[in-house]
Amino acid sequence: MPELAPYAASDRNTRGRRHPEAPPAERGEFQRDRDRIVHCTAFRRLEYKTQVFVNHEGDLFRTRLTHSIEVAQIARSIARALHANEDLAEAVALAHDLGHTPFGHAGQDALNECMREYGGFEHNLQSLRIVEQLEQRYGAFDGLNLTFETREGILKHCAPAKARELGELGQRFLDRTQATLEAQICNLADEIAYNNHDVDDGLRSGLITLEQLQEVPIYARHEALVRGTYAGISGRRLIHETVRRMINVQITDLLAETRSRIESHAPQTPDDVRRAPPLVAYSDEMSEAQRELKRFLRTALYRHYQVNRMTNKARRIIQELFAAFMQGPELLPPQFQDMARADKARAIADYIAGMTDRYAMREHRRLFSVGEF
Ligand code: MG
Repeated sequence: MPELAPYAASDRNTRGRRHPEAPPAERGEFQRDRDRIVHCTAFRRLEYKTQVFVNHEGDLFRTRLTHSIEVAQIARSIARALHANEDLAEAVALAHDLGHTPFGHAGQDALNECMREYGGFEHNLQSLRIVEQLEQRYGAFDGLNLTFETREGILKHCAPAKARELGELGQRFLDRTQATLEAQICNLADEIAYNNHDVDDGLRSGLITLEQLQEVPIYARHEALVRGTYAGISGRRLIHETVRRMINVQITDLLAETRSRIESHAPQTPDDVRRAPPLVAYSDEMSEAQRELKRFLRTALYRHYQVNRMTNKARRIIQELFAAFMQGPELLPPQFQDMARADKARAIADYIAGMTDRYAMREHRRLFSVGEF
C-alpha cells in the first residue's frame, strides 16, 4: 500500500472499536475488519441474493456478492490513487450490502411496507444491525466489533429521527457533516459498479438492446470509439470494450475532480474531511452523464415489464411470509422465536431479510403448499 495521505483514515487516528481489543499482530485494524466481514454468514448469503435479476434467472448475472466484489475493486483503485486507506475502503465496500433482503429493492420495499407500524425497514440500517448485533460468532461480544470508521462507512444515509437513536454514529446526519474519504469513495464506487454492470446484465438478458442504448450519450460515445478502433467488432466484445471504457472515464473524472477539491480544502486529518463539503465527486459534466444513464436504466430496465412481474411476485412472497409469521410466531425457527419474545415484528424482519432468494421461495412453499416440507 502506498504511503497514506494525512487525511486518510489509519490505525493511528481510528476511533477504535466499541469493545476494546488488542491490536492485531500482523494486520492493520481495517484489514481485520475486512477479514471479519469476509468470514461472516451474512457475507456468504450475498451469493444468492438478487442484484437486479433473481438468482435462478441465469448463472452469469451479477449477484449481491459479485456486485460487492466489483465495488471493492473500484473503491480500492480510487483509494490507492488518492493515498487513502485501501483496507478501509475494501471493508466498507464488502459490507455495504450485507443488509439487503432477498429479491433486491422489491424485497426491501415490501418489507418496509410490512414494518411500517413497527419502525420500518431499511437495508442500510440492516447492514449495520448485522455487523453490530445479529452476527453471533465471537465469545466476547455480539456482532463483529468493527471499527467506528467501517461502521460509519456502512451507514450511507439515515433519517434524522433514526440518527438521534444511533448516537455517535448518527451524529453526522444531524450536524450535516461527511464521513471519511474512504466512505465517500465507496458510495461512488457503488454507483459506478451498478450503473455499468446493469448495462452489461441488461444487454445479456435481452431486456435492453444496443439500439436503445444509443440514446444514452456516454454509452453511444464510447461505443463509437470502440467501433472506430476495432473494425467489425460485435457481440460480447463490443459490449465489454464499451463498458470498460465507461468505467475508466468515470473513475478518471472522479479522481480529477476529487484531487482538485482536496487541493482547495487541504484537509490534514480525517476530521477535516468530515467537516469539509463532500470531497469525492464527479465533475458537473460527468454527474449529468451519470444521471442520463440512471434515467435510462430506470425506465428501460428496472421498470421493464418482465422485471415488474418478478418484483410483483417478490412482494407477494415477502408480504405473505411476514403475515404468516406475525399470526403464528411459533412457525419461526427456535432462535427467532426467542428474539420474537422481545420484539416480534423486528425478529421476523431480521429472519426474512437474512433469507436468500431461493430460501425465501422455499420457505414460502413450505408454509403455503400442501405436500411441501
Ligand atoms: Mg451496492
